[in-house]
Amino acid sequence: FFSDMDVVELPVVWRAAVAARNFEVGEEILREPPLLLLPKIRQDTPLFDSLDAIANKHHVAEKVLYPCIYYCRASEEIKSKVKEFYVPRLDEDGLQYKRYHGAVTEVAELPELKASGVPWEELLDFILILRCNVHMIGDGTKTSALFYLGSKVTHSCDPNCMALAIGIQLVYRAIRPIVKGEPITFSYISGFDLWKSTPARRELLLDQRFFTCCCLRCTREDRCRYRICPECGDQNLCRYESGQLSYMGQDPTPPTDTPWFCQNAECGKKFKDEDMDLEVEKALQYNVLENFFSTKQITSVHPELPQTMLKVCEEKLGRNHWLTLLMIYSHMAMHHTALNSGQKPLSTGKDCLVWADRLCKWMEVAMPNTMQQAVIAKFAGQTAEVYGVPELASLWFTRAIPVLRVHHGNHGKDIREMLAYIEEHGSPEQIVVASKPCRVIDMGKNVPVVSVKNSPTTNGKPSNDEGKITEAPEAGPVDPAVTKKQAKREKIKEQRKLRKGGRA
Ligand SMILES: [Zn+2]
Ligand SMILES: [Zn+2]
Repeated sequence: FFSDMDVVELPVVWRAAVAARNFEVGEEILREPPLLLLPKIRQDTPLFDSLDAIANKHHVAEKVLYPCIYYCRASEEIKSKVKEFYVPRLDEDGLQYKRYHGAVTEVAELPELKASGVPWEELLDFILILRCNVHMIGDGTKTSALFYLGSKVTHSCDPNCMALAIGIQLVYRAIRPIVKGEPITFSYISGFDLWKSTPARRELLLDQRFFTCCCLRCTREDRCRYRICPECGDQNLCRYESGQLSYMGQDPTPPTDTPWFCQNAECGKKFKDEDMDLEVEKALQYNVLENFFSTKQITSVHPELPQTMLKVCEEKLGRNHWLTLLMIYSHMAMHHTALNSGQKPLSTGKDCLVWADRLCKWMEVAMPNTMQQAVIAKFAGQTAEVYGVPELASLWFTRAIPVLRVHHGNHGKDIREMLAYIEEHGSPEQIVVASKPCRVIDMGKNVPVVSVKNSPTTNGKPSNDEGKITEAPEAGPVDPAVTKKQAKREKIKEQRKLRKGGRA
C-alpha cells in the first residue's frame, strides 16, 4: 500500500485527491487494499431470500441491497470510515428516493441484521455512497469494493489517470503528465460511453452516479459532436457547453442563446439550438445505440440497416459527429468478423482503410491520449496490416503502444506483436517511441498479498471479524501473473465487442 496523493478541500467537489508531487506517464499514484469488500454473489440462505423479496416489492435491484449485509457486519472502525465518504443527495419527493427508503426501512428490521443496530438512515446513506464510490474488482463482475483513499479521486470525462484492479487492490496510474497540486481524476464511465456527446454523458452520469459532470471536457466545446454548418456546409460546427469547470459540479450555469459556433474562420456564424434539428439527432442517437451498441440481444437486423444508418448519420449530422463514427466502427467490426469467420465482407478493404483513417483522426481531436484512442489505433493498425499497408500500420501501432503500456504495465502480447511489426516495417523514430517503456513502478517484493475473510453467516450475530482485511507482507509479488490474466480478459472483452458490433 502506498499513496502519493494529498486529500484537500476543493470548492464544489468537497474532498478531492490532488497530486503530492509531479508524475510522469505510467507512474503509480495510489495502490490500496479495499476498506470493505462486497461480493455480489447471491447465497442460498433465508437472509438473501428476504432481501430479494424486499427488492421486488419496492422495485429496487437485488444487488443494491446485498451490500447491506456486509456493511451491517463490518467493524465499527470500518463503518466510521465509510461514513466519511461523499453521500449524494436524492430528491425526497422523487420516485427513486421513495423506493430506496421503502426498501431500507424493511432491511433494517430484518432479524439477521437488526442485531447490528444500524438504523435505516445509515443504510440509505450507505447505498447512496456505493452509487458514487464503488469500484469493480476481481474479474469485474463478481465483486465490488469501497476504497478509502481511492474514493477521493474524482471523475473526469477527460481523465489524467486510469484505475486498475490488480488482485483486489486498486491502483491508479498516470496516463498523462501530472503536476503537483493538480486534482487526480479517472473516468467512472468507459468504452463507447466516452464517445458520447456532452449531454449524453451528463445524462448517463446523472442517472448512474447522481451528479452533473462539470469536468474540463463537459464545460468546453463538444469535440465529439460536430455538426454541419447550415450556413456554409462546413463539417465543424461545434456546440459550446455551459457550466464552469469543477470536478463534481451540481449546477451548470445556463447556456448562451447561441451555443453553436462554426469553426470555419470565413463563416464563424452562431446558431441557436432551434436551428439544429435536435429532434432528428435524438432519434438517430436512440436508433444507433439501440440497434448496434445495446447489451440487449437483438435477433434480427435488416442487412441494409447498417449502411443506411451510416449514410443518414453522415447526411443529417455530419462526418465528424460521434454517431457517424460509431457507425463507422460498427462497419469495421462487421468487416473483421466476416473475415475471421471466412465469409466475404460486405465492404471492401479500401473502404475499411478509409474508415480506419477517419476513426484515428477523429480520436486525435475527440479523445487524445486515452485508452479509447489506443484501442482504436490498434484496431486500425490491424486493418492496415491485413491489407498490407505497412506505413499506416506502423503509424497507428506507434500511437496505440504508449497508453497500452500504462495499462498492461509494459507487458502484454499485443504490445510485443505490434513492436515486432514496427521494428520490421516502421521508421527509426517510430521504433524509438514504441520501444520506450513507461515508468510503471516495479513494486517487487513489497506488494502485500491481501486475504479477506468475508463470508456472511446467517446466525444473526454481527461479527467484528467480517470484512476485516489482513495483510501478509511476506508474500511475493503478484503483478506479472495478474497482468497476464488481465491481458487475456482484455482480449476476450475485445472479441466480445467485435462480435457485438458485427451482429448483423
Ligand atoms: Zn465530464
Ligand atoms: Zn459556417
